[in-house]
Amino acid sequence: MQELDTHTFRLAVAQFDQAAEAMQLDSKLRERLKLPQRSLIVSIPVLMDDGRVEVFTGYRVQHDSSRGPSKGGIRYHPDVNLGEVAALAMWMTWKCALAGLPYGGAKGGVKVAPRSLSTAELQRMTRRYAAEIFPLIGPDKDVPAPDVGTDAQVMAWVMDTYSQQVGFAVPGVVTGKPLSLGGSLGREEATGRGVSYVTLEALRHLEISIQNTSVAIQGFGNVGSHTARIMQQEGARIIAVSDVSGGIYNSRGLDIPELLRRYRSSSQTLVDTKLGDAITNAELLELDATVLIPAALSEQITDKNAAALRCRVLAEGANGPTTLEADRILEDKGVFIIPDILANSGGVIVSYFEWVQDLQRFFWSATDIQHRLQDIITSAFHRTLHMSKERQTSMRMAALMSGIDQVAQAHLQRGLYP
Ligand code: NAD
Repeated sequence: MQELDTHTFRLAVAQFDQAAEAMQLDSKLRERLKLPQRSLIVSIPVLMDDGRVEVFTGYRVQHDSSRGPSKGGIRYHPDVNLGEVAALAMWMTWKCALAGLPYGGAKGGVKVAPRSLSTAELQRMTRRYAAEIFPLIGPDKDVPAPDVGTDAQVMAWVMDTYSQQVGFAVPGVVTGKPLSLGGSLGREEATGRGVSYVTLEALRHLEISIQNTSVAIQGFGNVGSHTARIMQQEGARIIAVSDVSGGIYNSRGLDIPELLRRYRSSSQTLVDTKLGDAITNAELLELDATVLIPAALSEQITDKNAAALRCRVLAEGANGPTTLEADRILEDKGVFIIPDILANSGGVIVSYFEWVQDLQRFFWSATDIQHRLQDIITSAFHRTLHMSKERQTSMRMAALMSGIDQVAQAHLQRGLYP
């Protein structure tokens, strides 16, 4: 399939091939798991505020449903394409299996710059996209969630559009919803909280005290900002953060609560807040920080900059931030990598909690959610660490092998239909 052949999809397949080879995965299964189970491309005509009709392209890809409904976010970004969505769907399959969630992987997206739309245009586009992918989604089939460029409001519109089609309220069709529609406490911060929990485990394993830990974070959206806040609460020094416009640096540590207050309450850029010295995204990645957390887009750490990285721990908040070539360089340098499918799995773990609460119509406390998240993600971290030692392989390979093994067992036990 030519449309799949993009950088990000090649990265996902190359990682899968490496893991499949190391675990001597059944060759027939390998062919199947390299490709998505279903891919839908939709055209989304939208009435713009000025009376024109603009047609956007959207996607929903389900990589695997052998272990349960598929699960994965919806991304609104100008670079969205079928290959990227398919790669993200494949990573979701391994991520859900690694965490032991009863889901397969999916992903969706629309090629659009969401900030260029008015709220009314965004709502019309979201509703038409949801109507176009309606045949694929549902609480027992495929459950979307927010990703880059989408939020709880977008999920509320998807939930409403789906519910209008079937004639009754179906909160379990999406996760990451507002609380008033059956959202879960703790979902918004879940990915950042999960990144923080696994980073703290890694520091404990490496015997680095949190008081001596400095952290640099690329990306200050949902994942980056909550990670910064929680890591600082735990005692780490956040020395730099960045967004698409650039970043700020303060070797003594940024005042994160004040930064969040200024950044969220106005349209100030990070640099405008004057809480640190201006730095570029490229400079941030190469800072002398104990922990580097990429929490923006994929393929930020490549063979061009990997050798210059100075971190001891790389915790991948973003999906696919490190290329294969960079992986090898970092491994040689002895950087401890917490791979994306483990590091950022807090989001889908609490999405799973939200779905369970919606199906049961019974809601949990914030403390229940934090404890259960910590329990699941910490166990996944230790399973991965154990496998990496046992098989003498990287944390990335160990996480992939663990996830792929669960999916392979499900396929082999179900058998090939018909
Ligand atoms: P977001 O849209 O809330 O934030 C993205 C951030 O990245 C923003 O600060 C943006 O300014 C910045 N950014 C965009 N382009 C950039 C560039 N070229 N250089 C530097 N910064 C740039 O998105 P998010 O939900 O925080 O997701 C971030 C990453 O985490 C994505 O890779 C996403 O797939 C992954 N992720 C998100 C979740 C979740 O629950 N939101 C869960 C798992 C993984």
